[in-house]
Amino acid sequence: MYIIFLGAPGAGKGTQAATVAQKLNLAHIATGDLFRQAVERGTELGVKVKSYMEKGMLVPDEITIQMVLERLVASDCESGVILDGFPRNLRQAKALDSALAQQARAIDKVVYITVPEEELLRRLSGRWLCRQCQAPYHATDSPPKVWGKCDHCGGELYQRPDDTPQTVRERLQVYFAKTAPLVDYYNQSGKLLEVDGAGEKAEVSRRIVRAIHGSLAAS
Ligand code: AMP
Repeated sequence: MYIIFLGAPGAGKGTQAATVAQKLNLAHIATGDLFRQAVERGTELGVKVKSYMEKGMLVPDEITIQMVLERLVASDCESGVILDGFPRNLRQAKALDSALAQQARAIDKVVYITVPEEELLRRLSGRWLCRQCQAPYHATDSPPKVWGKCDHCGGELYQRPDDTPQTVRERLQVYFAKTAPLVDYYNQSGKLLEVDGAGEKAEVSRRIVRAIHGSLAAS
């Protein structure tokens, strides 16, 4: 099963993709996380992508598509995958479709998480992440028990450098110009499941799992 999680920055894609992947026993591929790890480690890929990420721009398609297609052949992807943050434009979506078609496979469902724009800004500006395990926190909604430390692994919490107000504005613009058209693309193929991303994280996860199970049962 191949499921894409679509939504604006701050919609909760990463958090929800990680939770739902665990519940459904699927691999979770988050392109933003893969790029951030590469930057942290100072790899060749990290050096190439750092400046795009800092500016809130998309990494060039050639680099992104190659990275994802290489990741998709790993053994943990055999029983299925949740793609989080990919595809981000039509060219990536079409490249993914044709790579899967070559193996007689296809995207099964696209979960589109919707959140009002003011709420996206609020979430992004208060967001903190664990440097070690990537667990997400929010300064007021879900603070850690000890400020600056991850509840799960004790890792250091940090704010993403691209969560500054100026870069957030750029990322939202990029999202509305390049990624939002994918909603129509997947809607036309009948794969889109629109899910309200407002409210408690656990409740949103339940909505997503219900939507996926409901649509699989109907098809
Ligand atoms: P994210 O963690 O999904 O918000 O991604 C962080 C940054 O990584 C984005 O602002 C882009 O610079 C880069 N990135 C992540 N996924 C993609 C993608 N599919 N295509 C191009 N750039 C990406």
